[in-house]
Amino acid sequence: MTVHKLASLKFGQTRVVNSLNLADPKLFHSQAFLNGAFVDGVDGRTFVVDNPATGATLATVAICDAAMTRQAIEAAAAAFPAWSKRPSKERSAILRKWAELMVANADDLAAIMSAEHGKPLAEAKGEVTYGASFLEWFAEEARRVDGSVITTPLTDRRLVVLRQPIGVTAGITPWNFPCAMITRKCAPALAVGCTIVIKPAEQTPLSALALAELAMRAGVPAGVFNIVTGDVDDAPIIGGELTSNPIVKKLSFTGSTEIGKLLTRQCADTMKKVSMELGGNAPFIVFDDADVEAAVAGALVAKYRNTGQACTAANRFYVQAGIKDAFAKRYGEEVAKYRVGEGTGEGVTIGPLIDDAAIQKVRAHVKDALDRGASVLVGGSDHELGGRFFQPTLLDGVPSDALMCQEETFGPVAGLTTFTDEDDVIRLANDTPYGLTAYFFTRDHARVWRVAEALESGMVAVNTGLLSTAEAPFGGVKESGLGREGSRWGIDDWTELKYIAMAGL
Ligand code: ADP
Repeated sequence: MTVHKLASLKFGQTRVVNSLNLADPKLFHSQAFLNGAFVDGVDGRTFVVDNPATGATLATVAICDAAMTRQAIEAAAAAFPAWSKRPSKERSAILRKWAELMVANADDLAAIMSAEHGKPLAEAKGEVTYGASFLEWFAEEARRVDGSVITTPLTDRRLVVLRQPIGVTAGITPWNFPCAMITRKCAPALAVGCTIVIKPAEQTPLSALALAELAMRAGVPAGVFNIVTGDVDDAPIIGGELTSNPIVKKLSFTGSTEIGKLLTRQCADTMKKVSMELGGNAPFIVFDDADVEAAVAGALVAKYRNTGQACTAANRFYVQAGIKDAFAKRYGEEVAKYRVGEGTGEGVTIGPLIDDAAIQKVRAHVKDALDRGASVLVGGSDHELGGRFFQPTLLDGVPSDALMCQEETFGPVAGLTTFTDEDDVIRLANDTPYGLTAYFFTRDHARVWRVAEALESGMVAVNTGLLSTAEAPFGGVKESGLGREGSRWGIDDWTELKYIAMAGL
């Protein structure tokens, strides 16, 4: 990404906002959000956020340094006592209002998201609804942050467990779901009474700042929700403060395994609680007895949604020999129907990749698979639109030691590997340090249980390509992370249990 620190493109910015045709242009912010106010970066410094479809500048956004991050943490600490003591019903009402405002402003939020991320407008709008669902869900859970009374071993005492908010918290979020990854963290945090400082990804801070505007309108008090922004070079500085400051009691991170490990190490010195939602390497298994049409539908959404840029994206396709030809034929026919273009384009279903590094990785994975003997069924190279556009691609005969089976491709490329034996495919599926999502298709009920239990994965999708929902626990095992987001368990990571022994009764 080009960096123009000290740049002033305010006039250009107005033009961009006009071109987005927002019903409410006040949702477009480029300043950081600290203690309930939008503020300039340190010394007025800014970085450029571009539109990945065109490379055009969208905004110049405030750069926060360690001192500004400290100010945000201190604002969150000052806001914590009142927020955590607020009746849960009031916190619940504010979160619900915030969710309603997201839904009411879904078109504008989607336009901003599509511009900075590149995803098709319909997908962006879907993400807004999904993002709002976490606020709604945790607005409900806010009223069920229950403790427990334990059966006492001694008659003169009573043993009680309280569940209390952990305090000031921090969230570091990725660019692939610019809105939902923020609400998935701040909704449980605020529901239980924590306050939070969020650092959004440098590629997509505008969605985060639009959420801040709506938080303010919903009545989230100053200091309860803060956003510190910065470019790629600023991330270690902001992250350094968030992970070393003893005021911060918990960090929730979504991003790469490499940075997740680094941040976990940094958090160790002050013994912060961490939740880590990291990379995946999802297997997608189609057994001979699967419904081909259902498997194709699942494989389309599991691979190509978000242009393949999801940690849950199917990354390795293992197809049993008896169904391989039928599946490959139908999958290829559907992949060829994708329409590539700018997210705002009519009928577009596949957007650009996020940046140049992303397209280079996709190219490298395809080349590596072809060098190892794979063949192209659909696509296989850069799209004629150029820039960051890649053709929706389907390869066949990909050996399981190919790069695309070893690490996340994060692009619109699927590669098929044929297998024969169930035990072999389970061994292949588990032969990875990652364990976030696994998909499989079968109509045999005994196999459903056998395979679902054998897969080393935090989440298993059976006969579907989509499993994320606010009601269910999202998270991984092995090097895919720690902790769960969403669901009734989603408040665990934001609370501490306090045991009170009451004697002399
Ligand atoms: P990706 O490769 O998908 O961009 P990253 O793990 O690099 O994933 O980024 C996810 C988030 O982590 C982003 O908000 C990014 O700015 C942030 N980040 C990257 N490096 C660091 C770091 N050293 N310290 C703190 N945050 C970081």
